[in-house]
Amino acid sequence: MKLTFKPFELQLKHRFTISKFSRTSTPIMLLQLEHEGYTGYGEASMVPYMGESIETAVSFLQKVDVNQLKFPFNYAEIIPYLDSIAPGNPAVKAAIDMALHDLEGKLLDKPSWQLLGSNAALMPVTSYTIGIDSPDIFAKKVQEAAGYKAIKVKLGSSDDKQLIDIVRSITDVPLYVDANQGWTDREQSLDLVHWLHEQGVQLIEQPMPKTDPDSNAWLTERSPIPILGDEAVQRLPDVNKAHGVYHGINIKLMKSAGVYEAKQMIDKARQLDMKILIGCMSETSCATLAAAALAPQCDWADLDGPLLTSNNPFAMPEFEEGKWLLNEDAGLGLRM
Ligand code: MG
Repeated sequence: MKLTFKPFELQLKHRFTISKFSRTSTPIMLLQLEHEGYTGYGEASMVPYMGESIETAVSFLQKVDVNQLKFPFNYAEIIPYLDSIAPGNPAVKAAIDMALHDLEGKLLDKPSWQLLGSNAALMPVTSYTIGIDSPDIFAKKVQEAAGYKAIKVKLGSSDDKQLIDIVRSITDVPLYVDANQGWTDREQSLDLVHWLHEQGVQLIEQPMPKTDPDSNAWLTERSPIPILGDEAVQRLPDVNKAHGVYHGINIKLMKSAGVYEAKQMIDKARQLDMKILIGCMSETSCATLAAAALAPQCDWADLDGPLLTSNNPFAMPEFEEGKWLLNEDAGLGLRM
């Protein structure tokens, strides 16, 4: 097994602003695992507020002993091995896990989504995310998004209702809302939730700070719209903690340390009768296809990475009727 990696700066089409951060590009680590003439591809997307960087990824990858990654891959041993190298670092762990899944599919000559037990016909539409912006630029972005089957709006500024009004003056598509912990007052939040319900909003991500589970639980108990924990939910043990606080969870490979644990989180959430959104960071086709392999097992998908970036180093996966198409290629289905 041979491990190689190289940093890459993934450019966003538009400056992206959420309730607490703003940026125009994202550092990515592209990774390859080669074995018996096959190459598995992986990717770590390191958005600045998650604490990982090219430097932390390089430092982590230099400590990985590839002899611990033996085929057939036993993820129940490999993931704890990666965790034993260093805590945290979920994105770079995800890159390794993803490359292993791609490689495994190629070695077994099967698509990853099949190996993961997904039914490709159940792929949900993917939402297209629009960041916080001035009203005229925001309106222009909504118009550009006209072809997508769901729109996700980042709220948490003082103009939340105005942004939704702009969307509704342009399109009737299903709306998802992400407050990114930007709401603080319970009663005001509940009023806004009821108003958003009237506007056809179908889910709300992380309305209140993750450090305030009581307020999130208070809102969840009263909300007619599913409330999902995102910042509050990273890896498997967080699913149990989210139960009773949120209606559901937002799973992202860059938080869960990859596909293996994301699948465990899906199964745990289903046991607890919780809803599931599968989301992403700024990602190339590689991580998007890895998440898409699990998306048919989720209620909603927000896998718009390649739609929002301008220098994806891989071929754009097929996208039809607002959905990523899972192909029959062995592995993740990534094309050059
Ligand atoms: Mg979110």
